[in-house]
Amino acid sequence: MIAIAAKKERNLIVSLGLREMGVLRCDTCGEEFVIGHSPEIADRKAAEKQAHWLEKVLADDHERQKKHDERIELPNSAERGDRGQETRSA
Ligand SMILES: [Zn+2]
Repeated sequence: MIAIAAKKERNLIVSLGLREMGVLRCDTCGEEFVIGHSPEIADRKAAEKQAHWLEKVLADDHERQKKHDERIELPNSAERGDRGQETRSA
């Protein structure tokens, strides 16, 4: 199962056969990332959480003056992202 965010213009989500779960726009540079899930794990709620996580990752990239990756693996619900400090509740 796959959950990733990829730069929108690459259309990577579609070419990987993933379901488009939403688009997140970076506040700082305006770049857009599409969140994609494998159809068998497609989950709106997870995608919303991942969008929050991704927001932080993108902001962090700018803080460190690092370019955004073309493709960012998203933490799935089974594991916790190492950059977020949110506590999960079941
Ligand atoms: Zn940015």
